[in-house]
Amino acid sequence: MNGNRGLLIGRMQPVHKGHINVIKDTLEEVDELIIGIGSADKSHTNSNPFTGGERILMLTKALRESNIDPSRYYIIPLEDISCNSLWVGHVKMLTPPFNKVYSGNSLVQQLFEEENIKVIQPPLFNRTEYSGTEVRKRILNNTNWEELVPPAVVKVINEIKGTQRIHKLNQKEISELI
Ligand code: NAD
Repeated sequence: MNGNRGLLIGRMQPVHKGHINVIKDTLEEVDELIIGIGSADKSHTNSNPFTGGERILMLTKALRESNIDPSRYYIIPLEDISCNSLWVGHVKMLTPPFNKVYSGNSLVQQLFEEENIKVIQPPLFNRTEYSGTEVRKRILNNTNWEELVPPAVVKVINEIKGTQRIHKLNQKEISELI
C-alpha cells in the first residue's frame, strides 16, 4: 500500500476537545487519517443521544474550525455488528485501506491486534473532563459543558436542540424505572 494511512474510531457522543487533540496529534504521524464514527446506527439513548449524521456534522465543523486540511482525512460512519470476532472485517469493508489503528479502547485494540494490525495507544488529554460521559452529565446538570467541546460543536448541539433531547431521554429512562 502506498501512503501511511491510519484509522481512529470513536463513538464521539458528542465530539469533544480530546477527540480534536488526538486527531491533530495523529495527523502529525500519518499522511492521511480515516476517522470512523463508531456505533453510527445508535441514537436517542442516554449514552448515545446523537445520530451518526449529527456526529459527522459536529466533527466536520470542528475540524474545519481547527483549520485542519480536509484532504488529509476521511470521515466514515461505522454501524455496530453483533459479532465482535467479525468486526475488523466489517470495518475494513467500509474504510479506505489503512496500516495502523489508533485507539485507547481495549476491545478495539484487542480485535485489531488479533488480525495482526498494528495498534497505537495515543496519549489522553485531560480525560477526567474531556470525555463524552462528562459532557452528557454536565448537560443534564446544566453546568458548563460548553467548555469541554469545540465552539463548532456547541453550535451544532444548539442547532439540533441536543440539550433538550438529552433532558427528555433522561426523563424517559427514569419513568421506565418507576
Ligand atoms: P470514544 O469516543 O470514547 O473514544 C475514541 C478515541 O478517542 C479513543 O480510542 C481515544 O483514543 C480517543 N480519546 C477519547 N477521549 C480522549 C481524550 N480525552 N484525550 C485523547 N484522546 C481521547 O469511542 P470508543 O468507545 O473508543 O469507540 C469505539 C467504537 O467502536 C464504539 O462505537 C464501539 O461500539 C465500536 N466497536 C464496535 C464493535 C462491534 O460492532 N462489534 C466492536 C468493537 C468496537
